[in-house]
Amino acid sequence: MEYKFKAEVKQVLDIVVNSLYTDKEIFVRELVSNASDASEKLRLGKLASDEKIPEGELKIKLATDEKENLFSIEDFGIGMTEDELISNLGTIAHSGSKAFIEALKESKGNIGDGLIGQFGVGFYSVFMVADKVDVYTKSESGCGLHWSCSGDENFAIEDFDKSERGTKIVAHLKKEYSEFSKTARIRSIVEKYSAYIDFPIFLGDEELKTRQAIWLKAKSDITPEQYEDFYKFQTHSYDKPTDWLHFKADAPVELNALIYVPSENPERLGFGKTECEVSLYCKKVLIDPSPKGLFPEWMRFVKGVIDSSDIPLNISRESMQDSGLVKKLGRVVLKRFLKHLAETAKKDAQKYELFFKKFGTFLKEGAAVDFENRAELAKLLRFESSLYPDGTKVSLEDYVSRMKGDQKDIFFACGADRKTIESAPYVEAFAARGLEVLYMYDPIDAFLTGNLGAFDEKPFASVDSSDIALGDAPSSSDVAPLPDAELTPLKDWIKSALGDSKVSEVSSGGRLVDSPIAALNTDGITPQMRMMLKAMNPDSPLPPSPVKLEINPRSEVIKNLNSLRSSDESLAKLVLDQLYDNALLSAGLLENPRSMAKRMNEILAKVKP
Ligand code: ADP
Ligand code: MG
Repeated sequence: MEYKFKAEVKQVLDIVVNSLYTDKEIFVRELVSNASDASEKLRLGKLASDEKIPEGELKIKLATDEKENLFSIEDFGIGMTEDELISNLGTIAHSGSKAFIEALKESKGNIGDGLIGQFGVGFYSVFMVADKVDVYTKSESGCGLHWSCSGDENFAIEDFDKSERGTKIVAHLKKEYSEFSKTARIRSIVEKYSAYIDFPIFLGDEELKTRQAIWLKAKSDITPEQYEDFYKFQTHSYDKPTDWLHFKADAPVELNALIYVPSENPERLGFGKTECEVSLYCKKVLIDPSPKGLFPEWMRFVKGVIDSSDIPLNISRESMQDSGLVKKLGRVVLKRFLKHLAETAKKDAQKYELFFKKFGTFLKEGAAVDFENRAELAKLLRFESSLYPDGTKVSLEDYVSRMKGDQKDIFFACGADRKTIESAPYVEAFAARGLEVLYMYDPIDAFLTGNLGAFDEKPFASVDSSDIALGDAPSSSDVAPLPDAELTPLKDWIKSALGDSKVSEVSSGGRLVDSPIAALNTDGITPQMRMMLKAMNPDSPLPPSPVKLEINPRSEVIKNLNSLRSSDESLAKLVLDQLYDNALLSAGLLENPRSMAKRMNEILAKVKP
């Protein structure tokens, strides 16, 4: 008998048939999902009535026929009665296509390519590649039926002699889509989208490899080996994950997630920027292998799967291109991941340190740019400290808890390593006052402290900044300083001898303990930032800004300089230039170290025995 499709179905068919959508292959995913659903429904029904299904009966059989240009799929699930055929395949009552229609209405007919791919249009997607489709079906109690349609507004249903329960769909492929009558092509599509279907899938005589969707199982039912195995399979890698997080959430969206931290940070090993490899599934069926906008950039190091049965129903209510649902899913998983890291840090500090060593730069990047998660991320950061030996890391919370009564800032020093930082003339002033300094070795750290600004309302302050006012140091040495009557003219002489372009101010505050001289940072641009700016703009280097100099009136070098000034002023000037360059070198501000060697030789030549 002939039937007419409902108007809505016609609309979907028109779009699907005329679709220029490139991912035609998703029709396989849709048909396999339907076969799996039908098998699952049968299994549940039998379970409810305590009947046994013979082992191996519920399978899905795919077949291709290159000669006749056919693709077919058969299941042994619940099948359909005549009424069901009419209502299931003749009206839009079911999930996938219904969401599509809703989206279509909202977008006023301007449906984008991506939309079909995102949730498929269920059964009708087969009309993208076929000009005729036959459905042979039989439900448990009903008789065999044959549904057929050529993608126009009519379909027909006839009796058909079918002995086995279930459904077989035969797609008569359009000439230009003969690729789907090739076994290899179908195999790769099934492996891509349907690797986790619960029923055995056969392609001709060959059983395709499928896996258990372990992310939907209870944690207690999965061994660590199974978690590791799954990681290797899903990410096509051979390494062992450093860590994983497996959880289920019900609100604000339903989801199951299994997120892995890989064994290594490929960016650290010098490979290019990594891509986030977290795939989106809906009930074990792949929806999107790399959903855009799932996580903020800095989360790109994680891998795994997120499965949400809310996907096909909600997606049409969200904006088209950039689904809000995807963001929502990402946010839930991200928050849980941060919580997991915080718990790990508390429960197993050693494990966390290992993680942070490899992946800490991502957290720093996040703390610097991800405003929404900044507070949680900042707590997860770790740095070396002047109070602890090489290799021991502290958190910002630790630091703040140890701050001295009147200390307002979090002091930090940037440098290539501990030695470099401690040999510069800055940290000694803090050490002498018992103040802790965080040591930062990562190029991103200067950027991080700049963007973060503060932690727990305590501003970050670089030890070379001229803004830091340090109270008097407990006088440790009994060496007498240069008396003020001599110190003031010396400072004036230094300023005029070097000139305004090199020095803005000469002070003799109590910062320095052992070093004779230090250059302080006045413009807030750290040497690391200066280097970065220079690398970005090699043609227009930053103008060298005059520095603020601090001299140590107790230092033997300064005292000698003062005497030399009256006995041999030209030598004193040479020595001063050298001291100035030393100060710039320690500050990481020296642009051209070559002139230093030449001057050094000049000075040495004047040393008379
Ligand atoms: P959805 O799967 O989202 O419900 P589809 O367009 O894929 O939407 O399928 C429409 C309906 O057709 C299904 O809900 C189901 O009732 C019926 N159906 C499709 N394929 C089969 C099948 N192989 N066996 C039994 N019923 C099927
Ligand atoms: Mg379906």
